[in-house]
Amino acid sequence: MSFNAYAARERGGALEPFDYDADPLGADDVEIEITHCGICHSDVHLVDDDWGISRYPLVPGHEIVGVVKAKGDDAEVEIGARVGVGWQRGSCGECEWCERDEENVCPDMRATCVDGYGGFADRIRIDGRFVLPIPERISSEAAGPLFCGGVTVFAPALRWMIDAKTKVGVVGVGGLGHLALQFSRAMGCETTAFSSTPAKEEEARGFGADRFVVSTDAGEMKSARNLVDFLLVTASADIDWRAHLAALRPNGVMCVVGAPPSPICLPAGAYHVGQKTVTGSAIGSPRAIRETLQFAADHGVRPQTELYPFEEADRALARTRANEARYRVVLGR
Ligand SMILES: [Zn+2]
Ligand SMILES: [Zn+2]
Repeated sequence: MSFNAYAARERGGALEPFDYDADPLGADDVEIEITHCGICHSDVHLVDDDWGISRYPLVPGHEIVGVVKAKGDDAEVEIGARVGVGWQRGSCGECEWCERDEENVCPDMRATCVDGYGGFADRIRIDGRFVLPIPERISSEAAGPLFCGGVTVFAPALRWMIDAKTKVGVVGVGGLGHLALQFSRAMGCETTAFSSTPAKEEEARGFGADRFVVSTDAGEMKSARNLVDFLLVTASADIDWRAHLAALRPNGVMCVVGAPPSPICLPAGAYHVGQKTVTGSAIGSPRAIRETLQFAADHGVRPQTELYPFEEADRALARTRANEARYRVVLGR
């Protein structure tokens, strides 16, 4: 069976129509007729091979939404169900992490657009363990970005047990940050947005920020010292790590989920004083995606999206590459 996709045929190449023969449908597999697919900054990194893991032709797209058209005997989804898939398409299923619902850190984790062809396509066949149903209240256009962007910012809140008493900071008001601000407000947290773009203040407050700090203004960063317990870094550009770490209160946690290009450089003393933790987070397990979707459905957390037809995938990807999206681009048909 031939699937119709859009692929880059070489590093940085334009997205062009690309047909491929689907693998046979395995017992655990699900075939999805794709209606929508969000565009994540990682798709740009994959097309450009910024991480040295890309294989061409490369079909991007890992915020996939559609309808189940076929399934293997062992797949636990219903034909006709509205479902989605995120960054991960597979894992070993047997290791200690897979066994305790942490498939996202399985050493044998397989990525949707690296170990197969992604969601800029009319169909996809994929392991049903990573295919999750979408709550009725979330539209298909809004659901896509929750499968990667949404879980990426919500899973750390689960892991670090954020609650209404936690003072939260979100660095960067973009595809990830605008969702993180909404989740933080919905959890009842006092929330501060840090951004290098003063013009984003009004929208940041609309998404959930109680306070807005211009991160490139030394005076404002100084007055933001000792302000938050949990600082989620969603920025995709370099930031002043030392000044941001200083915004943490004692025993605070800085969790990096964005991908600034340069290494994180901090003097040892910055960790000693106040016993701060600097950590990262990798998307989220299927269980975390389920919880993200349910929380978003219950609390009205929704990505702000721009819709493009699949035929304009290349133009839509260019918007994400140029950081022009407000705040997430979604392909739809
Ligand atoms: Zn992503
Ligand atoms: Zn595993």
